[in-house]
Amino acid sequence: MACPFCDEKIKDLTFLESKNFRSVYNISPLLEGHSLIMPKRHVETTFDLNGEELKEMLELTNKTTKLLLKKFGGDGFDWVLMSGDVAGSRIPHTHLHVFPRMKSDGFSDPREFFFKLLEVEKSKDRKGLTSKQLADIVLKLKS
Ligand SMILES: [Zn+2]
Repeated sequence: MACPFCDEKIKDLTFLESKNFRSVYNISPLLEGHSLIMPKRHVETTFDLNGEELKEMLELTNKTTKLLLKKFGGDGFDWVLMSGDVAGSRIPHTHLHVFPRMKSDGFSDPREFFFKLLEVEKSKDRKGLTSKQLADIVLKLKS
């Protein structure tokens, strides 16, 4: 299977980048602002990143999170990184999920969000954004 994160199209979804990493808007966001930080080259797990790269990834993640909170108005955030099939990763190209969190998320216990998101992900209700919607969001995040 071709890696979707190594596909040329990933560039159109990229709104922030560093030398070796990019921040990409999720094509089917589970919450508004749901984005992914990933290495530009194909890397299966964080074990394949050196110390400098791990630092660069965290710095870009921090910068991306600040930007998302500013643009989407979040009050907090969650970071999620799944590695390996057994951990729930579905794309074998390491990536860290950023979820801006807002009081209006509507979870009675904010920690429930992860389980609720899994329900949405598995259900048929999960809607992908159109190319136009994605282009508009990427533009908003770049400006
Ligand atoms: Zn890849």
